[in-house]
Amino acid sequence: MGIMSSVYGGIGVFREKGQPGSIHVICGCMFAGKTEALIDRVRGLPAGDVCVFKHALDRRYDDTRVVSHNHRSCRAVPVTHSDELQKVDMGNANVVAIDEGHFFDDNFPAVCEQLCTRGLDVIVTTLDLDSWGRPFPMIARLRKLADSVTVKTTQCGKCGGQATRTQRLIPFVAANLVGGAEAFEPRCESCWTPPPEEGDAPIVGDHRVHDPPADRIRP
Ligand SMILES: [Zn+2]
Repeated sequence: MGIMSSVYGGIGVFREKGQPGSIHVICGCMFAGKTEALIDRVRGLPAGDVCVFKHALDRRYDDTRVVSHNHRSCRAVPVTHSDELQKVDMGNANVVAIDEGHFFDDNFPAVCEQLCTRGLDVIVTTLDLDSWGRPFPMIARLRKLADSVTVKTTQCGKCGGQATRTQRLIPFVAANLVGGAEAFEPRCESCWTPPPEEGDAPIVGDHRVHDPPADRIRP
């Protein structure tokens, strides 16, 4: 149906081939170019063919744009809960692109699958691991539903090797709002060290927020 439904070969295809819609996950550590990849895909589509969404909690660069760390951007509709994704009138769009999927609630994988059964091709960027190197359970479920999973990596900030993890450089404090290069660095598994366990880390849904906005930070 949609432009990307011929892309298979991902991990765990549960829907039968030939069914409309598809789910594509672009995951990895911070600074791996996930949002860049999303913007590239969106820019290659005709106007009106794609709806872009972001979580409203993610206000690091802009409220209504998806912005990469290289400051490329595209317009996006901010939503606060995955259920809203089903209610938005998407016009004639065939593709739904959602940035920073790990910010969403537990119901997010089910919503992505429902969008898919409506014939939409769903593209999600997301962190796969939190600051402590643990998979986000909800994202692990989404990956199992996906037709394709692209794992992005980048250069380790310490040794130049292949970075798959995100190193938190400063602790959770109120001043740490932006969540850019001053707060995080990509690291390979050898150079990465988990931050101290913090029982009071901010929580959204059932997981700790990797890069919490101001109103969710507890000192
Ligand atoms: Zn390294």
